[in-house]
Amino acid sequence: MGRGSYDAIVIGAGPNGLAAAVRLAQAGRSTLVLEAAPTIGGGTRSAELTLPGYVHDVCAAVHALGISSPALARESLGDHTPQWVWPDIPIAHPLDGGRAGVLHRNLGETANGLGADAESWRRLAQPMIDNWDKLTPQLLAPLLSMPRHPLVMARFGIKALQPASLLVRRFKTDEAAALFGGCCAHAFLPLTRPLTSAFGLMLTASAHVDGWPFAAGGSQAVADALAARLAELGGEIRTNTLVRDLQELPPHQAALFDTNPTQLASIAGDALPARYRNRLRKFHHGPAAFKIDYALDAAVPWTNESCRRAGTVHVAGTFAELAIAQKAVATGHMPERPFVLVAQPSLFDKTRAPEGKHTLWAYAQVPNGYTGDATEAIEQQIERFAPGFRDVVLRRRVATPAALEEYNPNYVGGDIAGGAHTGLQLVFRPTISRRPYVTPNPSLFLCSASTPPGAGVHGMCGWHAAEQVLKAASRSRRRVRD
Ligand SMILES: Cc1cc2nc3c(=O)[nH]c(=O)nc-3n(C[C@H](O)[C@H](O)[C@H](O)COP(=O)(O)OP(=O)(O)OC[C@H]3O[C@@H](n4cnc5c(N)ncnc54)[C@H](O)[C@@H]3O)c2cc1C
Repeated sequence: MGRGSYDAIVIGAGPNGLAAAVRLAQAGRSTLVLEAAPTIGGGTRSAELTLPGYVHDVCAAVHALGISSPALARESLGDHTPQWVWPDIPIAHPLDGGRAGVLHRNLGETANGLGADAESWRRLAQPMIDNWDKLTPQLLAPLLSMPRHPLVMARFGIKALQPASLLVRRFKTDEAAALFGGCCAHAFLPLTRPLTSAFGLMLTASAHVDGWPFAAGGSQAVADALAARLAELGGEIRTNTLVRDLQELPPHQAALFDTNPTQLASIAGDALPARYRNRLRKFHHGPAAFKIDYALDAAVPWTNESCRRAGTVHVAGTFAELAIAQKAVATGHMPERPFVLVAQPSLFDKTRAPEGKHTLWAYAQVPNGYTGDATEAIEQQIERFAPGFRDVVLRRRVATPAALEEYNPNYVGGDIAGGAHTGLQLVFRPTISRRPYVTPNPSLFLCSASTPPGAGVHGMCGWHAAEQVLKAASRSRRRVRD
C-alpha cells in the first residue's frame, strides 16, 4: 500500500472522509485518504448513467444542508468552494386535481400560495428563518453538545420533538400539510414518531433560507472541491484501495473510518475491545432507497405549473397518503403508493443534458433489503401528477437496494441515511456516548454519516471527528510534557 507514515489516515473518500482530511490537513497534519472505488466522492458522485451527454447524480443531488455547512464553506475550501445552482422554486408537492403545496424561497410568496394556512405557515417558518444562523451550527453538531443559544434551541425543541402527525394539525389545507409532511418524511420514519417534525422544520427552513441548490455540473463537484483543497494542503488520496484490515495501513497516529459501524468493527478487529465491537454490530439500519435515473426527451409534463419550475418534487399525494406509505415501509411492507423524491437538475443546469433534453433523479423509500421491483410503483406515482411522463423517457437506469449496497458498502440493505433514526439512534450514533466519533482505542475514530449530525452531504461528521483527533493529539502532547 506504499510507504511513509502519516499523522492521519482516512478510510473512505465520501464527503465526510474528505472533509475530515481537509480539516486535519488545515491543522498541518500529514493526511492520506484511501478509497475503495475507482473514483472519489462516495454519496456525492456524478456519472453518465443512461446515455452519453446525460450527467446524473449517482446518489445525492439536492444540497439542502451542504450550502450552510462550515466544512463546505469558503473559509474551509477557499477558491475551491463548489458553485451552486438554484432552482426557481425549491420544493413543490403535487396533489390530485392539479393542485400543489409550493415552497418558494420567499416566505410571503409561500404563505400567500397556501391560502387559509398562510398565517400558520408563517408562524411556523418565521422563527426558524430568523434564527437560522444560530440554529445551523447546533443542528450540524451532536445533539447533546452544549447549545450556544439555549433559548433559540429550546423554542425549536418544543416543536421539533413532536411527531409530524401532531404538528401538522395546525394546517387546514391539504397543500400546507403535504408540503410540511414531505419534508418530515426525509426522516425515513412513520410520521407518528417523535422528532419527525424536526426534519420538517429544519428542511423547510433551509429551503427558505438557502433554496435547496444543486451543485453546478453535478454533485461530483462537491467531492472534487474537497479533494482540490486537500491537495493544496498537501494531503494525498489513493483510489482503488479497499481497506480490509488495520494491518494493511501505512504507519499512522490516527485512523478515521468513513464507513458504517460494522465495517469499523471488522476492519479494526482486536484493536477494539470485543464488547465495543458487539455494540457496533448491533447498530440498526433503516429503510432503503430504490433509485431510478432517467434520460428524458423533454421536461416532465407535470400538471401543476409550479412543479415544472421546482428543483425538488415530493411525490406522495396528501399527508394521509404519505403517512400510510411511511408506516408500511417501517413495518417492512412495500407501499402501493410510495413516497418518491424527485429532483430536476437539468431544468436549471444546462450542463446536465444535451440541448432540449433532460435528466431526472428519483428514488422511492422502500423497506430495508427490499428485493422487488419498484419501477412500476414509482412511475405510476409520477404519472399520476404528470400524465404522459413515460412518453418522454428515453432511457432509465435502476438501482435496487442491493445494487446501492454493492456500489457502496455503507448503504447496508439500501439504507442511504447511515443508519435508522429509530429510538436512541437518532441522538446517539453509533453507540450511546457523549463523544460519538471516538472509540475505546485512542487512535481509531468514526467519521461517517453513522455519527452526528447524520446523513447528507455536509461533511460535518468528518469535520467534528477531525476536531476530536486534534483534541486527542493535543491531550497526549500535554501528558508527555507533564
Ligand atoms: C440514492 C441516494 C440519494 C441521496 N440523496 C441525497 C441528497 O439529495 N442530498 C443529500 O445531502 N444527501 C443525499 N444522500 C445521502 C448522502 O449521499 C450521504 O449521507 C453521504 O454521502 C454520506 O457521506 P459519508 O462520507 O459519510 O459516506 P459515503 O458518501 O457513503 O462515502 C463513504 C466512502 O467510503 C468508501 N469506503 C467504504 N468502505 C471502505 C473501505 N473498507 N475501504 C476503502 N474505502 C471504503 C466508499 O466507497 C465511499 O466512497 C443520498 C444518498 C443516496 C445513496
